[in-house]
Amino acid sequence: MRKKVIAGNWKMYHSPNDTKEFFKEFNDLVKDTQNEVVICVPYIDVASALDATQGTNIKIGVQNLNHQKDGALTGDVSCKMVEDIGVKYSIIGHSERRQYHHETDDYINLKIKSAFEHHIIPILCVGESLLEREKGITKYKICSQIVLDLDGLTPEQAKNVIIAYEPIWAIGTGRTASSEDANQACKWIREEIGKLYGEEVANEIIIQYGGSVKPANAKELFTMSDIDGGLVGGASLKPQDFAQIVNYDK
Ligand code: PEP
Repeated sequence: MRKKVIAGNWKMYHSPNDTKEFFKEFNDLVKDTQNEVVICVPYIDVASALDATQGTNIKIGVQNLNHQKDGALTGDVSCKMVEDIGVKYSIIGHSERRQYHHETDDYINLKIKSAFEHHIIPILCVGESLLEREKGITKYKICSQIVLDLDGLTPEQAKNVIIAYEPIWAIGTGRTASSEDANQACKWIREEIGKLYGEEVANEIIIQYGGSVKPANAKELFTMSDIDGGLVGGASLKPQDFAQIVNYDK
């Protein structure tokens, strides 16, 4: 049985003070869950978030990394720095970074490899645009992202990647993929992983769904055969809403 991993993506919301307030309410609401809870916060919030979640079952992640050890890279943060502060997860290849920061699959692949060198679990986002869905090339798009983004990983590393299937048209739009469509896409990803890394890795790898997950649809999505939890943007900003999503099985 694969565990469920439910991750929040705060994007560029919540200040360090908001972070303290959030966890004051949130920690207690999820203390009894068996699901893995990760919240990926803006860099400025990492210290407050780590402090506010000490001794709890909540893990803190970041939303992006630079693959280089160090360098003249104004505004960037390296995997080594993230490891140093004790953060163990990072979103990599979110569609907003692919779109607004022109991140390519080759570049995302470098970040994933660097994350593993520094014991950081990548939450790799893949997904199709509305045009790609309408043209019937969803499977082609997400499988080619998987092949390129995971290129050169060992089976042991591949098993530890968390993949978030996030149809771009469903992110922040209020439109959710139907549970059948979301499950089908997660199955395609699992099959592709099977071809690349074998059945054991395919059976163990965590594949989340992301795209307008809310308290009202979390249970239907997360109980599908190939969906192992979710990556949640907007609905992870409010303690009550995100706790309801984490506790979808209560
Ligand atoms: C996301 O940021 O990855 C996301 C899925 O956002 P939302 O839940 O707001 O659609």
